[in-house]
Amino acid sequence: MTAVASAATGAPAQATGRATRAVVDLDAYAGNVRAMRRLLSPGTELLAVVKANAYGHGAVPVARAAVSAGATRLGVATVGEGAVLRRNGIAAPILLLGPIDRGEARTALKLDLEPTVATDDLLEAVLDAARSLPLARPPGVHVKVDTGMRRYGADPEAAVALAWRTADDPMVTLLGCSTHFAAADEPDERFTRQQAERFDRVLSRLAEVGLAPRLVHAANSAAALRSRRYDYDLVRMGIALYGLRPSPKIDLAAGMRPVLSLRSRVARVIELSPGDTVGYGRTHRVDRPGRAALVPIGYGDGYARALSGRGWMGIGGRKAPILGRVSMDQTVVGVPDGLDVEVGDEVVVLGRAEDGAPTVEALAMLTGTIAYEVVTAIAARVERHVQRDGRIDPDLGSV
Ligand SMILES: *Cc1c(COP(=O)(O)O)cnc(C)c1O
Repeated sequence: MTAVASAATGAPAQATGRATRAVVDLDAYAGNVRAMRRLLSPGTELLAVVKANAYGHGAVPVARAAVSAGATRLGVATVGEGAVLRRNGIAAPILLLGPIDRGEARTALKLDLEPTVATDDLLEAVLDAARSLPLARPPGVHVKVDTGMRRYGADPEAAVALAWRTADDPMVTLLGCSTHFAAADEPDERFTRQQAERFDRVLSRLAEVGLAPRLVHAANSAAALRSRRYDYDLVRMGIALYGLRPSPKIDLAAGMRPVLSLRSRVARVIELSPGDTVGYGRTHRVDRPGRAALVPIGYGDGYARALSGRGWMGIGGRKAPILGRVSMDQTVVGVPDGLDVEVGDEVVVLGRAEDGAPTVEALAMLTGTIAYEVVTAIAARVERHVQRDGRIDPDLGSV
């Protein structure tokens, strides 16, 4: 019945009706975008980061929701991710956040994606591509400054030279200048301030030679949530728009809430007797009569095997502990005492504590990782069901 957005491409896919699915609440997402827009300095634009299939939420429906809710730009990590958005008719400006291969420059420009350059080599490739293509206008590029992350970016001195070269060539436009914070989610803000000061010095140097890129940007979710100091012309937000905190030390703005829940249904009710063991390796031994429920989800769905014997799911609003090992496609949970469970009953694998389920953050904690990785790990075979106006919309995923 329900149309879904294919996890891998965001393109329409036929729902199979598999019990295990991710429900993506676009009302929540749009509400989060609006909450952040209210918080930002007047004139600061919001770029919605939709890389990695919108952090596992489905790139195309999320990108559309972002733009309708007032995000003026989108950000992706790869040219392939940008291609998916363009193929699905998304016309908003799209920034390539990180390095691309020089061989990809031509495709990037054809798709009207904005490269982030940090080396002469990539700038050269972008210029070559621009010269060889019949483009309507010179493509905009962003020059990235490494102010202390020591990841992508040009050192301050080199960035000034690169910006100069970019501005000097009529084949391209110096559209943006950016940096990225290494520790904006830490309670101690000193390093973030130092990075911003280094960035400001680069901007002053640019101004001295008459260069004023239209889009100066630095903030990720953590920086945008904690202070207006880092707003500049644009903030680049991913995790917070999905209703997840960048770290447990940074709070979301009022009214922001999680977008994704992972749901399934009971596939079998198992009567357990003392002496039984459950699952591979027989790691769970039954010591009293009880019942268990089989849930058709496993590490092949991105549900971490590290949850074996440790995690839980929500059934009937109660916590149902994982018994034994998570296998590739199936997991067994204990049925809480006194709970009546039947085949087909809803299981909330990941969601709200009120449903008895672990939140994304709780699950991240359990498996020793961060919220980002939990949602990004949800596998392509898990169908994404798009929820809007309070209901799971049969059309939205396929438009
Ligand atoms: C992924 C990314 C972001 C978004 O980070 P969040 O912490 O999810 O807000 C911002 N900027 C760059 C360069 C990124 O790669």
